[in-house]
Amino acid sequence: MTEVQSKSCIIRSEQDLIIENRILNHEEDKVLVQVEAGGICGSDIHYYQHGRAGASVIQEPMIIGHEFVGIVKTAPVGSALKVGQKVAINPSQPCYQCERCRNGQLNHCQSMRFMGSAQHFPHTQGGFTQYVSVNTNQCFPYDASIASEIMAFSEPLSVAIHAVNKAGSLIGKKVLVIGSGTIGGLVIAAAKAAGAQVVLGCDVSERSCKVAIDMGADHSFSPLDHEEVTKYQQDNGYFDVTFEATGVPSAIQTTVDFTKPNGKCIQLGMGNSSIEYPISQFLVKEIEWTGSFRFNTEFAVAVNWLETKRVDPTPLISGVFSLDDAESAIIAAADKSKSTKVILKI
Ligand SMILES: [Zn+2]
Ligand SMILES: [Zn+2]
Repeated sequence: MTEVQSKSCIIRSEQDLIIENRILNHEEDKVLVQVEAGGICGSDIHYYQHGRAGASVIQEPMIIGHEFVGIVKTAPVGSALKVGQKVAINPSQPCYQCERCRNGQLNHCQSMRFMGSAQHFPHTQGGFTQYVSVNTNQCFPYDASIASEIMAFSEPLSVAIHAVNKAGSLIGKKVLVIGSGTIGGLVIAAAKAAGAQVVLGCDVSERSCKVAIDMGADHSFSPLDHEEVTKYQQDNGYFDVTFEATGVPSAIQTTVDFTKPNGKCIQLGMGNSSIEYPISQFLVKEIEWTGSFRFNTEFAVAVNWLETKRVDPTPLISGVFSLDDAESAIIAAADKSKSTKVILKI
């Protein structure tokens, strides 16, 4: 990584903080939150290493981070939030005015501002900083006895629960989750919590296969294991629902092979913008293929599932670093052979 690239994403300095606080004091309708912990996501790593995430290119200094929690320092008069309360922050800031928002499709807002994203200019600043100024409706209070690094999973768990919602009822269903990173691991736990009969994990990495089991999978296997693969391809597929959380082209073929006729595939992995697609098999098996993007109202559910321990993300935490050590944290997070989710304590 070049020096220029590493400067394109900043962690806010003490001096900036003083300036920001002065500004924040004038915004009485906002909530000032002292950030406690944040999870490093793939897009944060892309911004830091390459100055871009997909089509979003950094054009000015931007604070990264969209998976974070903190403590309310000041709240607007009349707000239900209390000073000292612990809150998970929903990084989505939909406009609530466009047609999609009015139809309740907040994740498809036509002018969505998402914290820690360079999609718009000026960029929407993120959460890896000591203080953030957010809207009251972005703050979800949680039980203070739950560790902040656990609650930092509120955002990625929302993504997982949204995908489970997209699949419809999972009660009694056989489910496969391809890819056992953070999102795959959380989908495994969420599918179990939603009543799936059997949930299997599939990943090329032995370490990730173990993570899948730790997150509640009944079994996990490698897509390179011929014996296992043959077993799930037999009789035109084994699974009622397959969640594809990698976006890797070969995994798309696997998804179609393993899913029963009339089964469902939920696409969570971004991958390349265009890939080879097994169209005839997909058609003949009448597979329902659904995209799943971010989340809508699932954020509140995710906060509840974490604070009630319905989902325990602990096996996904591969490192905890202080803000002073942010660069090492990002480098560690980028090493997928060792890391699932790296947490920054702020
Ligand atoms: Zn994320
Ligand atoms: Zn909108």
